[in-house]
Amino acid sequence: MPAQQILPSLPSTLESVYCNFCPGYCCYRLKGSTLLLDATDINRLARHFNITDGEVRNRYIEGKNTFKTREDGSCILLSNERMCKRCSVHLARPAQCRLFPYDLPCPYLRSDALLTQIQPRVERAVLQKIA
Ligand code: SF4
Ligand code: SF4
Repeated sequence: MPAQQILPSLPSTLESVYCNFCPGYCCYRLKGSTLLLDATDINRLARHFNITDGEVRNRYIEGKNTFKTREDGSCILLSNERMCKRCSVHLARPAQCRLFPYDLPCPYLRSDALLTQIQPRVERAVLQKIA
């Protein structure tokens, strides 16, 4: 079913409820997109893990300012354990993750093109988990 038929005209305030049930499409890196982290984000994670900022950079950051990803493009901190609260650092997640989708309707739930790209990765991740 096309994404637009699933969510015809849901207000963005209500749509945020979907995050609790969503497999985290926005946590899969698409070509050309980058999740940007700043020093505050990195320090928040350091305090969360009780390690230094440098250790956060070594373990989780690639380049200067984004998370490492797995082969399927998922954020290294995305958990396969639960369908809700899938971010393993939810309380310490970066600002960009907190703000997305910026009080707008979630683009992933409304775009067949985005879902077509990401859904197979999500399904592979789930299958790997239950295999
Ligand atoms: S912002 Fe969209 S893609 Fe991300 S968890 Fe919420 S509903 Fe899913
Ligand atoms: S930090 Fe959490 S919310 Fe942000 S991309 Fe990674 S798994 Fe998703």
